[in-house]
Amino acid sequence: MSAPDENVLRHLPSVDALLRSDDVAELIAVYGRDTVIGWIRNALDRLRAECTDESSQFDRNQWTQLAIERIRQLRDDEELLTLEPVINATGVVLHTNLGRAPLADRAIAAMQNAARNTNVEIDLATGDRRYRGHQLDHLWRELTGAEASLVVNNCAAATLLALQALAVGREVVVSRGQLIEIGGSYRLPDVFKMSGAILREVGTTNRTRLADYDNAIGDNTAALLRVHPSNFRVLGFTESVDIAELVNLAKRRSLLAIDDVGSGCLTDLQPFGLPKEPLVQDSIRAGVDVVVFSGDKLLGGPQCGVLLGKSAVIERVRKSPVARALRIDKLTLAALQATLEIHRHGNALEEIPTLAMLTAEFDVLRRRAEQLADLIRPKLGAAKLEVVESKSAVGGGSLPLAELPTFCLQLAVPGLSADQLAKRLRINRPHVVPRIESAAVCFDLRTICLAEHQSLATAIGNVI
Ligand SMILES: *Cc1c(COP(=O)(O)O)cnc(C)c1O
Repeated sequence: MSAPDENVLRHLPSVDALLRSDDVAELIAVYGRDTVIGWIRNALDRLRAECTDESSQFDRNQWTQLAIERIRQLRDDEELLTLEPVINATGVVLHTNLGRAPLADRAIAAMQNAARNTNVEIDLATGDRRYRGHQLDHLWRELTGAEASLVVNNCAAATLLALQALAVGREVVVSRGQLIEIGGSYRLPDVFKMSGAILREVGTTNRTRLADYDNAIGDNTAALLRVHPSNFRVLGFTESVDIAELVNLAKRRSLLAIDDVGSGCLTDLQPFGLPKEPLVQDSIRAGVDVVVFSGDKLLGGPQCGVLLGKSAVIERVRKSPVARALRIDKLTLAALQATLEIHRHGNALEEIPTLAMLTAEFDVLRRRAEQLADLIRPKLGAAKLEVVESKSAVGGGSLPLAELPTFCLQLAVPGLSADQLAKRLRINRPHVVPRIESAAVCFDLRTICLAEHQSLATAIGNVI
């Protein structure tokens, strides 16, 4: 690009002139002077660089209007990069890119309560220092029977920490059918490398027997690890060793038994038509030394990774310097405590959004689809809205084969492709992320809560 002609650009307003305009004053009131000056400089640089034959004819007033448009555009671009609430209309209940489990109201209130100072590492009765998460020990014990607990940043961290603290420089035996990749660069063999534990693979992709584990045990073996293949299934000619058998073998050979169940399910969801998931309490009952799982999958709580198990083993893990690097913050702890209290009260299916969404009845979803459609219809104009039957997914690497019957609203706007309409919905406020199915934009009632109906209707009205 040739250097801009000074003469042509003489009508470009100065930073000071723009600062004196009413439009810019409005922006300064909201965003502060320094921020706005940054946008002004950036906008002027771009206008200089993009000067064309046409814009070179502009007078001062036109340049000023153009500059203000650019400044607003920079503001809008920046706002799209800020973290903001989003309505998840995808029907994927645990949508990792949308923050997985939406928290229960009580968990949200608990985070707010803990936001200033809280007894995160202190015993209020004695004033003595206590480990972070000691507040949850009795809850975990009641819910799962576990003797001891430790909570870290996520399940990947929990696995890494368990391997590092319990097996660094030693072998851990895993079935080849369980060497999972979760996504976001979590691959079990890489986690082993990072931990310093040595991966000892046994069996085959589809079949691993107890004898395979037994034969692989040697002087340098520290543990047997079972990993739940949470985001895929191997079907057909398959065989795997159940956790109770693995625990027995570990005990006989004086090894640790570690179980990665992934989704952290405390409630059997089979009565609601969902496939079987390993329950945390079943692992504890089977006698594992440590079970690890996520807090923000089927537990329905905040992002965290939980290690439950035998006191002496958890104590060894807690003492690792790596544990300090992976510790959770007080807000997460507060939300987790509230979530566990809901589980203990027996209200999980009603109060924990993830579980409420997964177990929502077909007829309820149908009725809510009709209600939502009634809110949107007056705004439709030339757009078309239909209530259709569809299927939702669980997501978050949980229950990959589950397809939950659901109801969706399907929206079509003349002159807009589904992708264009979806983009408008994402960038508009409130932000809505829909699902695109058969080249149509769909809003799946399973992941939309009743409290969001009104704002979703407003958002749709804004973009059509
Ligand atoms: C999801 C999952 C993980 C990773 O959990 P994050 O909390 O996302 O780190 C690890 N193992 C299994 C079996 C999982 O399902």
